[in-house]
Amino acid sequence: MTTLPEIQQIEKKIAQLGSTARAEILTHSQFEDLRFPIYKVSFGSQDPQAPVLGFVGGVHGLERIGAQVCVALMSSLAELSQWDESIQQTLQKVRIFFIPTVNPVGIYRKTRCNPHGVDLMRNAPIDADNPQFLLGGHRYSKKLPWYRGEEGAPMQLEAQALVDCVQKEIAQSQLAMTLDLHSGFGLQDRLWFPYAKTVKPYPELHLCYALKDLLDRTYPHHFYRFEPQAQNYTTHGDLWDYLYDNHRANSKSGIYVPLCLEMGSWLWVKKNPWQIFSAEGPFNPLKGHRHKRTLRRHNTLMEFLIRAVNSPQAWATQNQEQVRQLDTRARELWYGNV
Ligand SMILES: [Zn+2]
Repeated sequence: MTTLPEIQQIEKKIAQLGSTARAEILTHSQFEDLRFPIYKVSFGSQDPQAPVLGFVGGVHGLERIGAQVCVALMSSLAELSQWDESIQQTLQKVRIFFIPTVNPVGIYRKTRCNPHGVDLMRNAPIDADNPQFLLGGHRYSKKLPWYRGEEGAPMQLEAQALVDCVQKEIAQSQLAMTLDLHSGFGLQDRLWFPYAKTVKPYPELHLCYALKDLLDRTYPHHFYRFEPQAQNYTTHGDLWDYLYDNHRANSKSGIYVPLCLEMGSWLWVKKNPWQIFSAEGPFNPLKGHRHKRTLRRHNTLMEFLIRAVNSPQAWATQNQEQVRQLDTRARELWYGNV
């Protein structure tokens, strides 16, 4: 049976982990005679109110490195959960889940879109303010990249499975964060926060400022550029905008921070220009040493996010005056106003 190395690695880990982790197949993604499971692997607390941190990869099949980094992070956490007492204690309070291959057929076929030609990250029922032509999502033809899917049609199977799963995870959680791993934009690794649909500040800007400030103070030499996604481009149908807005409309008190890691793939191309001519070239580090370096590059970020979710008092719980101050500073930093 055809499979993917990433799925084989997940299955191997699941078999090794026994009862330490919980594995679930969210759905199967299919195309002709291909059929791949979309796995979710969870560690830690089963309390629906527990703080939760999720890692997601492979939404855009061509950006395979995102799925691979997600599997690498999952494997490291799996090992730590076996021997590291501090992680074991954290996992009594916190839940951490991984969905590394959201679009497995896309990974296999080296396509950005899903088996039906739809860009999953343009597929949510959300319209953007002023999206860029084509790149921001369109309904002209599935033969063009960034196709949103038909007007009024249900979300694609893979997108719906991801949304359902994340919604359930975050619904009752007091503090939830997700990190969706992508590649293909710019020279630098970026951490993007909402919105994708508008350049206007999102309602809880102060939280992302507080998180950025905590990251800057804790790891002053980190290499991430922390910024609103829409400062680069706005898009229709972003799944994280959709999840965030739904959560905000329905949750009484829980906090949800959706982040995307956009790995700066142009740097790999710059260092190895020939790879631009390969299908995976513009989106993945092809040289062995660069690939290995990328797989371990985000370990500190994972540790930081675990600690941040486990210690909300450090950044996510403020009184009204603190919120006002943080919001002001955030607007100065990212929007050039007060
Ligand atoms: Zn992407």
